[in-house]
This record gives sequence, C-alpha cells and structure tokens, in this order.
Amino acid sequence: MNILLVEDETQLSDALKQILITNKCSVDAVFDGESGFEYGLTNIYDAIILDIMLPKMNGIEVLKNLRKNKINTPIIILTAKNSIEDKIVGLDSGADDYLEKPFSPDELLARLRAITRRNLDFVNKDIIYFSDINLNISTYELSCNNNSIILTLKEFEILRYFIQRPKAVVDKDDLIAKIWGFDSDVEYNNLEVYISFLRKKLSYIESNVKITTIRRVGYRLE
Ligand code: CA
Repeated sequence: MNILLVEDETQLSDALKQILITNKCSVDAVFDGESGFEYGLTNIYDAIILDIMLPKMNGIEVLKNLRKNKINTPIIILTAKNSIEDKIVGLDSGADDYLEKPFSPDELLARLRAITRRNLDFVNKDIIYFSDINLNISTYELSCNNNSIILTLKEFEILRYFIQRPKAVVDKDDLIAKIWGFDSDVEYNNLEVYISFLRKKLSYIESNVKITTIRRVGYRLE
C-alpha cells in the first residue's frame, strides 16, 4: 500500500512511518496542510492519514479541497481526544474514518485495511494528475486537454517519479537509482536523453508543464 502521511509532529510522524514501512507500506510523509493537499492531488495513494491541526492549511480544509477536486482516496483523520466536533466535521467533509490520539499502531493498521478494502472498487487509481496533465498508469498515456501520447516505460517511470514529488527538486542520482537501480551504469547523458524526450512529448500535447533543469542538482516539474 502506498500511503500519504500528513502529520506535523515529527516524532509521531517518524514513529508512524516506521510502523507502516514494517507493514510493507510505502510512505510519503509531509508536515503541513498545503503539501498534504498537493501530494494528495496526485491521486497515487491507496490511503491518506491526515492530522487535523496542521500548519498552513488545517486537515479539514485539506480534506474538503481534495474531495472538491474529485480525489476519492480513502482518508483517516487523526483527531484530538474527545473532540466530537472534529470527528463530525471530518466525516461530513468526506473522511472515511477517524482515529483519536493517542492510538495503537494495531488499530491504525486495522482501520487502514478496512478503508482500503471498502474503497478499492471505486477509487480510480489508474490516473495521476499534475497541473494540466494526467498520466494513465496502466496504459502510460499522457494527456492534456484533448491531446495525448503514449510514453515508453522509462519515460513513464521518470514522469511518474516527478509527479509524485510535485514542485520538489529531483536529484539526478536519486532519479537514476530509482529508475535504473543503484548499481546501474546509466549516466547523466542517458538520463538527459529521456528528459528531452519527455519535454518534446509535453510540448507535443501542448501542456504548460515544464521540466526545469536545476544546475548541478537535477530537475523540477513546474
Ligand atoms: Ca498536529
């Protein structure tokens, strides 16, 4: 399971991340509401664990904005003990479940299994989004408005990696390790060829999305 964890208390976040990883989940942890919303928009997660009290945008707003953008990812909100109001507002705003802090790891895992089972049938996880593009993860079709083009496997993997890290600077070495493996012989030149193919395809479908080169570091999807 691919989980987005939105929790600003770093100790709790680290502990949850460890528990989830131990239970074979992959986890992206972010620490404020705005990032939670941006990551959630990519629609690549099987579930989102969302704290309510967050800097920049509170959890309820994140939840409402995601649902407004038709993101149906199952969401568990984390509420303060005895805050009946948070629970009601959360569930009314489209949360699938809530957990009262403090909670046991076993309970969290059980709730995650329950909401992902419940939602598996109607969550559209085939499409991930960024700005004006969307990417079909089963057909590798990249679309913008009415234009579309099919990506090769490597192009697809690179673009998906970017979309999973919206607006973040992606390090070239990390990208190579992730796409080709740590001990691959792939060099920067090879990577740059793929990036130039992707740029051509983005401009072919008339998208405003750009892959910007960050000198000496890597790239950023903008
Ligand atoms: Ca908090």
